Amino acid sequence: MAQIFPFTDPVAVETTPPTQFVRGNGVRVVDADGKSYIDAVSALWCASLGFSPERLTRAMADQMGKLAYYHSFMGRTPEVADQLAARLIARLPGMERVFFGTSGSEAVETASKFVRYYWNAKDRPQKKRIISREGAYHGSGQMSAALTGLTYCHDGFDLPLDAVLRTGRPHYLRDAEPGESEADFSKRRARELDALITAADPETVGAFIGEPAMGAGGVILPPDGYWAEIQNVLAKHDVLLIADEIICGFGRTGEWFACETYDIRPDMMTLAKQLTASVFPMSAVAVSGKVYEAIEALAGKNGTLGHGVTYGGHPVGAAVALECLDIYEEMDLPAHVGRLGNLIADGLARLRDAPGVLDVRHSGMLAAVEFNTDALARAVGEEAERMGVFFRIIGSVLAIAPPYICTDADIEEITSVMRKAVEAQA
Ligand code: PLP
Repeated sequence: MAQIFPFTDPVAVETTPPTQFVRGNGVRVVDADGKSYIDAVSALWCASLGFSPERLTRAMADQMGKLAYYHSFMGRTPEVADQLAARLIARLPGMERVFFGTSGSEAVETASKFVRYYWNAKDRPQKKRIISREGAYHGSGQMSAALTGLTYCHDGFDLPLDAVLRTGRPHYLRDAEPGESEADFSKRRARELDALITAADPETVGAFIGEPAMGAGGVILPPDGYWAEIQNVLAKHDVLLIADEIICGFGRTGEWFACETYDIRPDMMTLAKQLTASVFPMSAVAVSGKVYEAIEALAGKNGTLGHGVTYGGHPVGAAVALECLDIYEEMDLPAHVGRLGNLIADGLARLRDAPGVLDVRHSGMLAAVEFNTDALARAVGEEAERMGVFFRIIGSVLAIAPPYICTDADIEEITSVMRKAVEAQA
């Protein structure tokens, strides 16, 4: 093996080499042996327009023919990057500026640096630590991995964990106390957050980062009242809120952005994945007017914003993202995702009473079946794979986040394979 594979057991891979994929066909991927699979989690929750999106290929080729690369440093920028920024700002709730990068991890690194920059601009230099939640995934950079609340991402890397404060995940089903209502559980999580900030000293806490609905931690949807309670605590202590919309953004939970689904009013948003349907690596950090004014003031004083990456605002990525926005608008994204999300929910509903199933949940086209045990989830996931559908196995959860281009028949195939794979375990 010549590759070092991410999130892979390097010992196991020597005897079981990874399946190699050679082609995409709509919502399907085809391996080197010619076997075709529906990827019901859009690969890494990201290939929102499938694996052979012709319009994006054309948009990319057109842009490459015009201007294949340029940068955005020192008074220059590709025109198309500026056009994309304007389109995004018109869509993003409460955001006034965007900063472009190449990956989700990089967007979280930038947002974390902006937290420091913001509080330095405000002359409150102690306000630096960032709160994140157990089970969160925020990336694989130094700070974004430290913010990630999955300990296997920390092991052996000596990450800057002292810059991070950790609070509980909003997993009502697993973490509520007996008899506790969803609303009371949310209030308890907010009280715990309040106590954490108070104990740490609010003057040392700069921001809170959260996925509006948690993805890699197991598709954890916020319980009743959760985000309202959390935002009250953050406002009380003057703590910035970063909404990590890297999975949720661009329709996944049924509105254009999950901040709209859950009534979240963030100071910054991180975006990637569905920004370009993942056919080109591109990410963005959007900031509110309040945050931008502070950045502008300090950068103005320093003579430059000393932060940027070579491929930020890449013209080919920007052209692809603009085409994605056109496609999303043409499909009337919220209505489309709402309808297909309901089809997923209908197709999975009868699993609620199946033996070994703890929960079936969805928000738009982000869905999950949670089992009583990790072993059962794994067995169902592997059976489904044999039947030609990929779900993401996360402990006791099978995650579902299919491409938006699914037909009704594709959704029926995905949900019926899930049902049959569960039945096969009986
Ligand atoms: N944030 C969230 C919520 C994610 O799900 C991911 C990736 O899955 C990231 C950040 C990191 O993005 P990337 O893998 O593009 O670096």
